[in-house]
Amino acid sequence: MPKDFSHNSHPRVTGDGGRDALPIYDVTPFTMLDFPGKCAAIIWFSGCNMRCGYCHNPQIVKGLKKKEGGTRKIENVLEFLEKRKGLLDGVVLSGGEASIYPGLPDFVRKVKSMGYAIKLDTNGTRPDVVSDLLDNNLLDYVALDYKAPPEKFKAVTGISKFRDFEKTLALLCAQKTVPFEVRTTVHTALMNERDIAAIINSLENRRYKGTYYVQNYINNGGPTLGALPKQSKELDINILPHPSNFTLAFRNF
Ligand code: SF4
Repeated sequence: MPKDFSHNSHPRVTGDGGRDALPIYDVTPFTMLDFPGKCAAIIWFSGCNMRCGYCHNPQIVKGLKKKEGGTRKIENVLEFLEKRKGLLDGVVLSGGEASIYPGLPDFVRKVKSMGYAIKLDTNGTRPDVVSDLLDNNLLDYVALDYKAPPEKFKAVTGISKFRDFEKTLALLCAQKTVPFEVRTTVHTALMNERDIAAIINSLENRRYKGTYYVQNYINNGGPTLGALPKQSKELDINILPHPSNFTLAFRNF
């Protein structure tokens, strides 16, 4: 993580605390793993409108200040990206949930004008924001979290926004320009094989063509947002249906 950013008060974010937090929690200056085919920086936006129990970024989600070094001013992050031109070719907008930051379109426009490709990681609850970014050709890749089928959506995320998520999924499926992936993190205290089968079925019905990643929950020992029990068993991936229109892939199994 870079240490060359100053801490300052600036636009507040909507997390639990919202206390003196800046819109950007931190920046990972270089990754080859998070943006397919790109050398990228990751921008970690503060605040999230969900409360997934397995979330391993409680500090970011609650919009709290970073203990050491403070959070980042938008201007400082733009300066950092300006200096990295030619060394990086992509920027990942992650978090927290980047789409709840009101200044996102303006920020993305500036980053895009520097020549960077943009990847958005999103929970899909702001279809208006995704639609606006797509309409203005500001996205190059999207990773969409499909948290749970409708009947479990609130239990997994803490909010009743499945309809908004569904709108985002529909508009991404309806366009052919921007590649996107869909992914689900599974903790078996929350989700089971039937739930993943239902998601696979719904993606088939939407004629999804990309890759659907099912990700096994891994606790690296750090704090999580909710007090989930240890997984008593892993998801049995051998009994999941095989989609015919898209690729099913697994992470951390
Ligand atoms: S895991 Fe859930 S709570 Fe954590 S950042 Fe993602 S959407 Fe927000």
